[in-house]
This record gives sequence, C-alpha cells and structure tokens, in this order.
Amino acid sequence: MKVAVIGCTHAGTFATKQILAENPDAEVTVYEKNDVISFLSCGIALYLGGNVKDPQGLFYSSPDELSKLGATVLMKHNVTAIDNQAHTITVEDLENHDITTTSYDKLVMTSGSWPVIPPIPGINSDKVLLCKNWAHAQELFHRAGNAKRIAVIGAGYIGAELAEAYSLKGHEVTLIDAQDRVMPKYFDSAFTDKIEDEYRAHNVQLALNQKVESFETTDDGVTITTDKEAINVDLAVLCIGFRPNTDLLAGKVEMAKNGAIITNDYMQTSDPDIFAAGDSAAVHYNPTGKNAYIPLATNAVRQGILVGKNIAKPTVKYMGTQSSSGLALYDISLCSTGLTYEAAKEQGISAEQVIITDNYRPEFMPTTLPVTMSLVFNPDTREILGGALMSKYDISQSANLLSVCIQNHNTIDDLAMVDMLFQPNFDRPFNYLNILGQAAQEKLTTVKA
Ligand SMILES: Cc1cc2nc3c(=O)[nH]c(=O)nc-3n(C[C@H](O)[C@H](O)[C@H](O)COP(=O)(O)OP(=O)(O)OC[C@H]3O[C@@H](n4cnc5c(N)ncnc54)[C@H](O)[C@@H]3O)c2cc1C
Repeated sequence: MKVAVIGCTHAGTFATKQILAENPDAEVTVYEKNDVISFLSCGIALYLGGNVKDPQGLFYSSPDELSKLGATVLMKHNVTAIDNQAHTITVEDLENHDITTTSYDKLVMTSGSWPVIPPIPGINSDKVLLCKNWAHAQELFHRAGNAKRIAVIGAGYIGAELAEAYSLKGHEVTLIDAQDRVMPKYFDSAFTDKIEDEYRAHNVQLALNQKVESFETTDDGVTITTDKEAINVDLAVLCIGFRPNTDLLAGKVEMAKNGAIITNDYMQTSDPDIFAAGDSAAVHYNPTGKNAYIPLATNAVRQGILVGKNIAKPTVKYMGTQSSSGLALYDISLCSTGLTYEAAKEQGISAEQVIITDNYRPEFMPTTLPVTMSLVFNPDTREILGGALMSKYDISQSANLLSVCIQNHNTIDDLAMVDMLFQPNFDRPFNYLNILGQAAQEKLTTVKA
C-alpha cells in the first residue's frame, strides 16, 4: 500500500505513526511544505509571555523520528495538485523547484488550516502579522521587541491569549473584536465580564463591538480604522479564525460550505481512497449531532490516529467531539465543553441554563476558592448539552468530566447524584459538579411550578 500524507503537523504526524504501526509494510511518504513538523501552536502565547523559555520544547516529533519509523519524509515539499482519478499527486521541491508527479494507493489529507485574511484595504501590511505556525511564532516574538503598542484583532481564545501575553510583557495592548464581548463563542457574559475586568486591570484597551475597516501603514506603525475609531499601533496581529486548507481537493470530494472535508466515521472522504483528518476536515459535533468546523489539536490527533486504524479497512469509529477547550488568563482558568446557552438557542435546540458560584472545598479549610459554573441542558430530555467553569482553582478536569457526560448522553440527574469522592482537602460531601447538577434540577422544578 503506497500512502501519501499531505501536511505534517498534528493530524499528519499522528496519522503517519499509526499507519506505520498498523501496516508495517506500507510505503508512507510525508510531504510537508514547512521545515518543521509537530509544532504546538498552543505554546505561542506561552512563549511570547515568557512562560515557555525554550520554544524547541514545543515540538514533540521530528522528520528524523518519522523516518526511523519507516516513513519517507520530504520536507519543504509542496503538493500542488491532486488527480484523484489517476491516483497521482504533483509535488514541488521548494529548495530546487523540481516538479514531480507520483502515484498513491491511499491519500491522507492533513493539510490543516490557514488564518482567515479578509479583503480589508491595507491588510497586506508587513505590520499586520498572523499567528499559526512556528515561523509566525518567531516573528511575533522578535517583532514584539520593537513594538510598544500592539493590537490583537479577534478576541477568540487565540487573540485572548495573545492579548494577555503581550500585556504581561508590558506592551500597550488593544484587543479589537466585532462582537460586544470577548470569547462569546465559548463563554457566557457571567464569565467574560470577569475576564474583561482583568484585561482592563492589566491596561488592555478593549475595542469591542468594532469592525476593522482599513489598515494604513505609516512610518512608525499601522493605523487601524474601525467603524468607531482610529487606533495607532506599532504592530497588529490578526486572529479572526481559520479556514481549511483544502483547495487541492475542491470539487473532488464532498466538503462543507467553508471547504472542510466531510468524512464518514472512519475518516474516509467521499473518495474512498482519500482520508482526511484535523483542521482540513469537519468534525462530528456530539451536542448537535451534526458536522461542524472546530479546528482544535484535540480533534487533529484523534482523527489522525483513526486514519491509521482505518486506512486498510474500516475498523474503529470516530466518537465525535464536544469541542472541549480551556485557557488560563491572568491566573484564572476558563474551560468549556459543548454548547453555550446562546449557541443552543441559535441552533434551535431546546435549552435551559444554570450559572452558579460555589467554593470548591469547605470554608473551614485554610483556603478555598470560588468556582463559577454554567450548565446548559435540554429541559425535555434533561440531557447535558454544555458546560463551562472558571476559577483560580484548576477546574480543567471538571470540564473534561462534563465532556464525558455529554458524550455519554448523561442527564442533569446523573450529574446531581453520580458518586464523586468526598474529602475536605478536595471538596464537600457533594462535589461542586454534583451541586451544579442539583442546581439544574432545582431550576426545572422552579420552571415547572
Ligand atoms: C495560536 C494557536 C493556539 C492554539 N491552541 C490550541 C489549544 O490550546 N488546544 C487545541 O486543541 N488546539 C489549539 N490550536 C489549534 C491547533 O493548533 C490546530 O487545530 C492544529 O494545529 C491542527 O493540526 P493539523 O495537523 O490538522 O493542521 P495544521 O496545524 O494546519 O497543519 C497542516 C500542515 O500541512 C502543511 N501543508 C498544507 N498544505 C500543504 C501542501 N499542499 N503540501 C505540503 N504540506 C502542506 C502545512 O505546512 C502544515 O504543516 C491552536 C492554534 C493556534 C494557531
């Protein structure tokens, strides 16, 4: 079996390893247009903020490792065309510009995503940077050295992290977003109000509810004109989302509107010899039961493994995702999974919500910390649809537990009474998640009464 893997960050690295583990005789060739593999973009903000001192730690594999496992790894090789009828790909060696055409039995499309760059006048300025890969990370790090004023455009989780990192390094940061609050896709205002207070306390200017209309490069920086004001900065970073990198397969396999490749449960596209995983592919979003585009490394590594398990024959099904994610801003952990209340309503899903704050362990202990929690659930079936937690206490594993609840179609009643350990070092006789489930039960009783 001759396998061509296009793109090798997370989905490509995991797919390659798993294909070789399951099919030791497979002839796997990896084509990667960059000069590195497996870069963890989630470390960019930590690197910029000084928490990660050695960015080499942000790579967990290497071309050498994949070669030792039996793959042929062609770095700085760009796949420029795919002929799925002839089962061939065209590849350009970016060092010497040689073009070759080679055949495949199975093709793995792990070409990922690229930042959305809208056609805003002046956006192609060398003072407007992107944030995606290792090359960007280095540029963001080095260029910040000479930039006092930095604008971050897009207050999703990536922009939120960059704004925090640069503010902690003493830059004058402006965080711009067309929405009226930060991270609206992930958290309700009970959470984002608190985070916005933290930004203000750290001198981050919040330019929310503002649409960027143009960029003008000046001698000493760039002027960003929004529909409300002109913002002068030394450097701007664009973080407004990602689009799948799938033009090579346009018209050749089934895709969502934004170009995300649709796969079956075995990561196989509508062309049975082409598999897709990671940011190039759509995911099955369990809270709605529909396909969605959720570019996360969590999905990329799982789907990459599934490509390896299923490439010879359909074997292991994809479980789908709750899109669980987390971040820490100014020592506050914020984690979410599944639907927010607003997202459920937008999708026409019957939903109720409770938001409560409780201390994670008893007040008689020397210290305790409040945890703000949200639970979104279907009032008819009582199934849990989503949840979020925020605290200075590490609540990340509780978000993971809520993710498992959604995956397994657990109800608020399950959450209210499920057995969880009690010991005052850790929690109360009822864990704070039990209490969240009980609050949801109480809410339904009140709604019915
Ligand atoms: C700043 C930042 C922070 C993030 N933080 C998190 C986080 O905390 N948690 C989380 O789960 N996710 C996070 N993500 C998302 C995560 O990084 C992506 O979901 C993940 O990188 C997707 O991996 P991938 O392998 O599918 O695609 P990509 O990372 O996009 O990699 C695709 C690869 O394909 C190569 N390629 C593309 N086209 C070709 C071609 N024609 N020929 C050859 N090679 C090609 C590219 O060079 C690239 O190396 C973050 C992303 C960013 C940018």
